Amino acid sequence: MLTSTIAATPRLLLRTPPQPTHHRYAGLAAPSSAGGGLSSAAGLHRRPWLARLRRALAEDLFVLHYQPIVSLRDGSVSHYEALVRLADEPGGGLVAPGRFLPAAERYGLIREIDRMVLGKTIALLADRSSTDEHGARGAHGVRIAINCSSLSITDGGMLAQVERALALARVDPAQLVIEVTETAAISDMARARAFCAGVQALGCAVALDDFGAGFGSFQYLKHLPFQYLKIDGDFIRGLPTSPQDQLVVKALVELARGMGKQTIAEYVEDGETLELLRAYGVDYAQGFEVGRPHPLSRRLVAPGGVLDRTRA
Ligand code: C2E
Ligand code: MG
Ligand code: MG
Repeated sequence: MLTSTIAATPRLLLRTPPQPTHHRYAGLAAPSSAGGGLSSAAGLHRRPWLARLRRALAEDLFVLHYQPIVSLRDGSVSHYEALVRLADEPGGGLVAPGRFLPAAERYGLIREIDRMVLGKTIALLADRSSTDEHGARGAHGVRIAINCSSLSITDGGMLAQVERALALARVDPAQLVIEVTETAAISDMARARAFCAGVQALGCAVALDDFGAGFGSFQYLKHLPFQYLKIDGDFIRGLPTSPQDQLVVKALVELARGMGKQTIAEYVEDGETLELLRAYGVDYAQGFEVGRPHPLSRRLVAPGGVLDRTRA
């Protein structure tokens, strides 16, 4: 049944390999309204990226925004995804990751950025102070997912860093989710597998990000240990009007279920899509319909709690 459903969806299998970095960071190529006031224009900056990124790392000019991932069964929060932004624009605007992560990869700074995001996330998870609503940090008990670039996954050092950071800050590993994208070369599968298995052995969860976007998706499914399968937003955005995407999403739900994994749909932008996903049995939703990425001025909700929709 599953096989026949997948066979009926040639687009999934015939997609072009995941070459362009712009797809990987597609969210940030979105207009400035997408993702909470992000600047996607060229900006006033003329500084070359290498110097700019080095300065941002040295002077702590990156900020994280947090986007909720919510259960489609009861509407409760499962966890948040941390999304990095560069805060060095003269006018105070934020630069979307799609504008600087490709350069960070090119100049070999992506691992430093991933480590910085890990550090900030662990510090937040360790922060047990509870302040008031509007200046609130309020991370008590929350779970946060961070994105790991393929270089971090395969370079061998990241796993030890995750372990050390969790131990030093005495953070419950169950509060950390690591999102892995299928961009690591298939030849690095052994390392990617060791990384995912190591992360799970620590007690963290692994999510396969942007699933279905690339040619290698099913290889990853077969070889990498994980808990969450994040269905690529490309299948979700036009869901109500695309019978083909509907077939793919249903097939992926069946596939994940058969493997005992949970599904997360990205890019959920309207109520109709949300209802379809619920009917298909997708476990969690992430997208502007559920909640946009936001800074820490809004309190993060611990697992099982519900979002305050009046502040969405
Ligand atoms: P991703 O990990 O797939 O993250 C989801 C992206 O989709 C985010 O874009 C988010 O703002 C955007 N998004 C969420 N819901 C919707 C929606 O309903 N509609 C639309 N149009 N977009 C939505 P963002 O923050 O620009 O990030 C883009 C990509 O950059 C991420 O894709 C991830 O691959 C990468 N990235 C972001 N933060 C980090 C990080 O800390 N480290 C690494 N290595 N990569 C990161
Ligand atoms: Mg992600
Ligand atoms: Mg994604």
